[in-house]
Amino acid sequence: MRIDLISDTVTRPTKGMLEAMMNASVGDDVFMADPTINKLQTKVAKLFGMEAALFFPSGTMANQTAIKLHTQPGDKLFCDKWAHVFNFEGGGAAFNSGVSSHLIDGNRGMFTAAQLNEAVAGRADIHVPYSRLVCVENTTNKGGGACWDYQELQKIKEVCIANNLAFHLDGARLFNALVAKNETPKQYGELFDTISICLSKGLGAPVGSVLLGTKAHIAKALRIRKLFGGAMRQAGYLAAAAIYALDHHVERLVDDHRRAKEIGEVLASCNFIKRVEPIETNIVIFYVNSIIDEVAFVKAIAKKDIHFISMGEGKLRMVTHLDFTDAMLEKLLKELKSYY
Ligand SMILES: *Cc1c(COP(=O)(O)O)cnc(C)c1O
Repeated sequence: MRIDLISDTVTRPTKGMLEAMMNASVGDDVFMADPTINKLQTKVAKLFGMEAALFFPSGTMANQTAIKLHTQPGDKLFCDKWAHVFNFEGGGAAFNSGVSSHLIDGNRGMFTAAQLNEAVAGRADIHVPYSRLVCVENTTNKGGGACWDYQELQKIKEVCIANNLAFHLDGARLFNALVAKNETPKQYGELFDTISICLSKGLGAPVGSVLLGTKAHIAKALRIRKLFGGAMRQAGYLAAAAIYALDHHVERLVDDHRRAKEIGEVLASCNFIKRVEPIETNIVIFYVNSIIDEVAFVKAIAKKDIHFISMGEGKLRMVTHLDFTDAMLEKLLKELKSYY
């Protein structure tokens, strides 16, 4: 029994999902003739109360398209210093859009409206890049699955309006936040100009993300997606998996969150663990203390066919997901309790 806690992207399609994929009706999406992709886009737009949506092969491409459609080369965006769009998209904002990133020194990947206000203030003359865009991430990846406070996001929106800034949400794991905080997609649709969501993280589809926005934004996004090489043909097989994921895998995220919390509780009781970060959703970040060697620890547990990653300097990460069952949880907890 392989137990893989490396990421929530390691899931494989379930039997029901595979059946939905096999039965999908498809067409050439470059001609907008794939009925399943059209259905997915309409469904997600309606779910968020937004005008339009577009299917993407990856979350990175959806975010990069959003950055491109809101900016011109030379402009500047604002994001947290831990943001995925800055740290983990290969420098794409600079490469694809020619924009610089103003990093805000937030907490667990989240900053405040006051911090944004301070960042946007200052001289506005020919020396200074135009400020165009604010990007936030919910849940935060590097921040260990932390969820934003919705009221703070509302205040940030006010700063965006006052300063004529577009507001983009990297919602790769937004559904984890919605379930954890009992919020609705429409609350987010109201607040943001564009939103990207991933179907291939906690929701368990093999491939796919969706970008949401106004009709005008999505018309632009369609051109940019083509330019980035992301226009697909009979990708309705993937959209069918995405539809299945939205219909069957959202409410069950509470199980992932419960299991993550149980792991955290056991880790906190182990004498070789220095600290466990607060666990709000499905990501567990923890630190081992110097009585054990972190690499040896990961290797020893891997010998039991339990896998997770070391992020260096004593920092380790486990991510729960659809393919991590209660039986696996039991085995993991037993191994942790008996490790040292
Ligand atoms: C995974 C992730 C993405 C990008 O998704 P890919 O499909 O892997 O390109 C974007 N933002 C966050 C916060 C993520 O965790």
